[in-house]
Amino acid sequence: MRSEFLPYGLHDIDEEDINAVVEVLKSDWITGGPKIEEFEKKFCEYTCCGYAVAVNSGTAALDIAVASLELPQGSEVITTPYTFVATSNSIIYNNCRPVFADIKPDTFNIDPKKVAEKITGDTKAILCVDFAGQPCDLDELRKIASDNSLHLVEDGCHAVGAEYKGKKVGSISDLTAFSFHPVKHITTGEGGMVTTDDKKLYEKMRMLRNHGINKDSKERFGPKSSWAYDMSLLGRNYRTTDFQAALGISQLAKLDAFIEKRSRIVERYNNAFRGNPVITTPQVGEGGGHAWHLYTILVSGVERNEFFQKMRDKNIGVNVHYNPVYKHSYYKKNFSFNKGDYPVTEDVSSRIITLPLFTKMTNKEIEEVINSTDECIDELR
Ligand SMILES: *Cc1c(COP(=O)(O)O)cnc(C)c1O
Repeated sequence: MRSEFLPYGLHDIDEEDINAVVEVLKSDWITGGPKIEEFEKKFCEYTCCGYAVAVNSGTAALDIAVASLELPQGSEVITTPYTFVATSNSIIYNNCRPVFADIKPDTFNIDPKKVAEKITGDTKAILCVDFAGQPCDLDELRKIASDNSLHLVEDGCHAVGAEYKGKKVGSISDLTAFSFHPVKHITTGEGGMVTTDDKKLYEKMRMLRNHGINKDSKERFGPKSSWAYDMSLLGRNYRTTDFQAALGISQLAKLDAFIEKRSRIVERYNNAFRGNPVITTPQVGEGGGHAWHLYTILVSGVERNEFFQKMRDKNIGVNVHYNPVYKHSYYKKNFSFNKGDYPVTEDVSSRIITLPLFTKMTNKEIEEVINSTDECIDELR
């Protein structure tokens, strides 16, 4: 058994990253300065999008993305129940109603057919999530959105670097939100980004991250600038710092190599578990371009929670992504979702388990996860 607990995810920060941060800390701009714009520009180049707005979390990114649409109060936004709570919370922050559509049994992404069934006269947007780093069925979702005059917003917090039919996530939906939390592919400590090709939405989001004010501190700096500014939208302080942006720039340069390393570990897991009757390994859909934020398996014939505990007893940091959003007490108290409406989400969430996957995993650690998985399943069968 391992002597130390192995987490399911871990950041990968090297000396180069650290030096980039230190350099900014020694400069005059530690927030509101040029590194943030540089990070946004490089992120645009990487994702092939027109505009990017850096913020201080993925949650902030989702919030300003939805806010920038200025949807009427009470509008319905169709989303997946099979996600981190921040996805659907961003709808509620903006006085809209989350409407859940069930997921597909192969990719665990929102099912376009179920989305179409949920559309009413109040529906204004679709908010999809690229589960585990695999892009949703974006062509189908785009068609539904276009046919029904809906905005298409993508929670790409699992999917930085992912591709759908050869196009980078971030260049496809009207708005795409990303997270740079340490368990994600690249990190700035806390941090996020929204990408769009729409200049108007971009300008609104820049204001929304800065209280809804039309000029940031850089624009009010220097002899020719005025002190005056106007607040025209109800924004928040979602600004990130220049030293985090410097970390982001440095990490972004390593993203492709990170995804490559993750894919290698995934291959080893797939090879080890192929043919095991208890385990279903992850399915890759026709869009391809999986970025492998998470490696999840489905177990059949053994009880997931018992398997989870046995793995944890061996110091393997397995996890569960996710308990469906409608099962959280806030959602139970304030909404009346019926779990019977989401049979696929119910089945998947009861059988899924996340195995550790991060770039710094050693060969030994990968072997330990594989061997522990086999042992635990043998003990439970
Ligand atoms: C991580 C994550 C978020 C939130 O990102 P933070 O940076 O932690 O605020 C939102 N949605 C999904 C699907 C996530 O995985």
